[in-house]
Amino acid sequence: MATILEKTVMPGSEPGKPADLQDNNPYAIVSGLLKEAVAGLGLDENVYRLLEKPIRTLEVAVPVRMDDGQIVNFTGYRAQHFDILGPTKGGIRFHPDVNLDEVKALSMWMTLKSAILGLPFGGAKGGVIVDPGQLSERELEELSRTYIRALMPIIGPEKDIPAPDVNTNPQIMGWMLDEYDKFRGFNAPGFITGKPLIVGGSRGRVEATGRGVVMTIVEAAKRLGLELNGATAAIQGFGNVGSMTARFLHEQGVKIVAITDARGGIYARDGLDIPALLEYARSHKLVSTYEGYESISNEAFFSMPVDILIPAALENQITGQTAPLIKARIVAEAANGPTTPAGDKILAQKGIFVIPDILCNSGGVTVSYFEWVQNTMGYYWKEREVNEKLQEKMECAFHDVYEMMKEKQTDMRKAAYLAGVGHLAEALQARGWVKGWSMPIERKV
Ligand code: NAD
Repeated sequence: MATILEKTVMPGSEPGKPADLQDNNPYAIVSGLLKEAVAGLGLDENVYRLLEKPIRTLEVAVPVRMDDGQIVNFTGYRAQHFDILGPTKGGIRFHPDVNLDEVKALSMWMTLKSAILGLPFGGAKGGVIVDPGQLSERELEELSRTYIRALMPIIGPEKDIPAPDVNTNPQIMGWMLDEYDKFRGFNAPGFITGKPLIVGGSRGRVEATGRGVVMTIVEAAKRLGLELNGATAAIQGFGNVGSMTARFLHEQGVKIVAITDARGGIYARDGLDIPALLEYARSHKLVSTYEGYESISNEAFFSMPVDILIPAALENQITGQTAPLIKARIVAEAANGPTTPAGDKILAQKGIFVIPDILCNSGGVTVSYFEWVQNTMGYYWKEREVNEKLQEKMECAFHDVYEMMKEKQTDMRKAAYLAGVGHLAEALQARGWVKGWSMPIERKV
């Protein structure tokens, strides 16, 4: 079996392209890790054949009439990876670097997250190649509505359920819901999650990803004997996920000494004033422009002598170049795909405890699931109830991945893939695609 797998051409790799660039293709990275997990569980390579590509991808034109009367025709994508556990689910990203391989990889990570968390969903992801910062509010609304209209045949509460991701937010989800309902002819709040509370959003959803990140850090700290009160952290990115992670770490008594965003970074040896930065970010979007702190470069950020380093921005940040600089005990991957294989190898050699993305940031999809459940019931929970259910899910998922790591004597990333693929294999067995297989650990989720 191993020989056949080695001969497989990795999706996303391009012959003739320099190896380091191929290494950073997220679709090639996730495919390689999936292949390893299938082999690591002793599953037939046919399972990899089923998982290696999304069941459906769609490229759409997104024409928008700009305020000056010109039409700009943007390009959008949606990838639906695997739906054996339930409808596919995943966010929508507006960013100039969006591309099909990135969207496919993100959809595959979503399948794994739902599997690790025991949610009845498959994975999906969407994106539009656009810099939303260059659009007026009216242009942004038109882009959001046009994109959703283009996806209409393949989305819906029982098919594929979108949510926010980079540069999208509850307001954009609200516009998309309105457009979807207009076409369906009735109110279907379960079509999208991360929407405003008044139209069926869930309490705790805006905070969920960051809250979940901190729950996994608490679990890791317990196992490593690290006292969080007084520990230090550095966070890359101060959008939804980075800012909420900062808020909940601050509540744990963690001193956050450095934060970067797309424009730069700020540093304070004695800890940044997180409540003030949260307030500032509400009106300014960026925190690197906050006055009174020392500025830091990207390189300085990775070299920080902190206990916990948290990438919460985009892919491919911890690389063969930046990983050697890292001194942290824990790397908590709040972003999706922040570490390249070369970076990962260096983190492992240095004995750094990595909380992998598909576990670390899965609080978002978990509360999105709770939102969808509440929409289906038409009955809404208090925030305390949402947070308690999230806590239980995150603790159980962390336990499962940690136990898998011990059982298979591997690292946390590989263990997360083993836990996710194992859960999918159970479903494949129930549907008759796999025979004679059982999970190596007793799962808690
Ligand atoms: P966001 O758009 O709210 O924030 C992104 C942040 O990253 C901004 O502060 C931006 O300035 C910063 N940034 C961009 N480029 C940067 C760079 N080169 N260096 C430093 N900072 C940079 O996005 P988000 O929703 O917070 O998502 C962040 C990450 O978390 C993404 O990888 C996303 O896929 C992942 N994620 C998000 C959710 C969610 O619920 N929003 C859930 C799971 C995972």
